[in-house]
Amino acid sequence: MTNLNTAPAPQVTPGHRLVPATITFFDDAARTVWIECPTWCVTDHVVDVQLAVEDIIHTSKIEDFGIGTLEKPGHVFELNAQIQSGPADPNPQLRQATVAVDDGCGEYAFLTPDMADDLADRLVSFAARIRQLSRTARAHQQQAQVTV
Ligand SMILES: [Zn+2]
Repeated sequence: MTNLNTAPAPQVTPGHRLVPATITFFDDAARTVWIECPTWCVTDHVVDVQLAVEDIIHTSKIEDFGIGTLEKPGHVFELNAQIQSGPADPNPQLRQATVAVDDGCGEYAFLTPDMADDLADRLVSFAARIRQLSRTARAHQQQAQVTV
């Protein structure tokens, strides 16, 4: 019999912490297991009940970006990004931390850190082109007001 008073503390992978998770094991009897969870994960694995440990997905805080229109209040487009990893995902690339980008419609683009850096660079370039479009539109509006 193991003496719990002298049992060594479990080893935790660097960048992780031990957290409780609720698993039903395909029946209605929820059980608590302890899992390693990345320090960037904000999922409450006790509340986010899964059928099996293999179904657990770690997610970071969502960074969101909405685009409104002058025609109505609210956003007509959105872009969300967060870190995700599924330690038991069949795709080995998705077992690692990836940046998951979505437009709120349920389809995700999973990006490696290099791919996410490339996306960020392209968004900065896109922002500069939008700025140029706004300058052109503003100049056109000002010219149109002069000639009306
Ligand atoms: Zn987690």
